[in-house]
Amino acid sequence: MIGNPFVRCKKAEYHAHGILSASRSDIFKINPGVLEVKSRFLGWDEFEDSVRNLLSSAWCVSNYCYYIKSAISNLVLDNVCYAELSFDLSDHLTLGIEFDCWLELIFRECQSHGESILIKPEIGLNARHGSEFYRPWFVAACESGVFHSVDLYGNVNIDRALEFKSFFTFAERSNLKKKAHLGEFNDCGSSLEFLKFVALDEIQHGVSILNSPVGFSILSKKRIPLNLSLSSNIALGVVYSFESYPFRRMLDKDLSFRLSTDDYLVFGRSISDDAMAVCQLGLLSQLEMEAVLSKGVPLIP
Ligand SMILES: [Zn+2]
Repeated sequence: MIGNPFVRCKKAEYHAHGILSASRSDIFKINPGVLEVKSRFLGWDEFEDSVRNLLSSAWCVSNYCYYIKSAISNLVLDNVCYAELSFDLSDHLTLGIEFDCWLELIFRECQSHGESILIKPEIGLNARHGSEFYRPWFVAACESGVFHSVDLYGNVNIDRALEFKSFFTFAERSNLKKKAHLGEFNDCGSSLEFLKFVALDEIQHGVSILNSPVGFSILSKKRIPLNLSLSSNIALGVVYSFESYPFRRMLDKDLSFRLSTDDYLVFGRSISDDAMAVCQLGLLSQLEMEAVLSKGVPLIP
């Protein structure tokens, strides 16, 4: 393959943390420390330290908006025409602004990007904080009309995650799409347990479910799409390599999956970069990958 043929494909991004999707070259202009990003992390704690560093300059309104703008132009550069970007519901606290001002900010920054890209903001809930922490703002966020989906993220401990069951019920009533990080750091058994309690519309990662025969057949039966973040999984040691994904079996069994970037600011790889790596390794053909990418693009009125 000459160059990267996937850059010219229109594509969709279903799993990207908003401000962590900025580009390093942009953020370097306001925080030169971003050059020192590791390519592999020894566990979640080391990853969180890195994230804290990368976001250390994000916590004033103008910089926060700058991160969002950078993330969106980055997606446009990779020909992403539809993106669900998540923003932690407690970001207004870190920014030190009123919740309503933060809602307006998210609405404004994610609006009107002309013909090139449609951004759908997503409510991000970090499992580590627990549900009580987010309760004061969750209903208002769901009813604000700003958000399109909700995503439970972080090092999801299933017992703790189940605390969020009522949040998902409310999200569904508010017509928000329900997503959670499953099968990234938790095993297949606990992920499937979670799915018994919460009917997710999509799973972020899902690797441990995918790699268990029982999990794989449950996913196929339930027809839940997976948003796979390949470079993220490798950097965090969730999988060893691109070969660890059963791409061929997923296609044969018609199991829906998309490629996503998770945190471009940390991992520095676009959807096209990962798509190219998969094809160069012979795991899928270029035509098959183009079909995967185009299938993920929703019909935009
Ligand atoms: Zn994520």
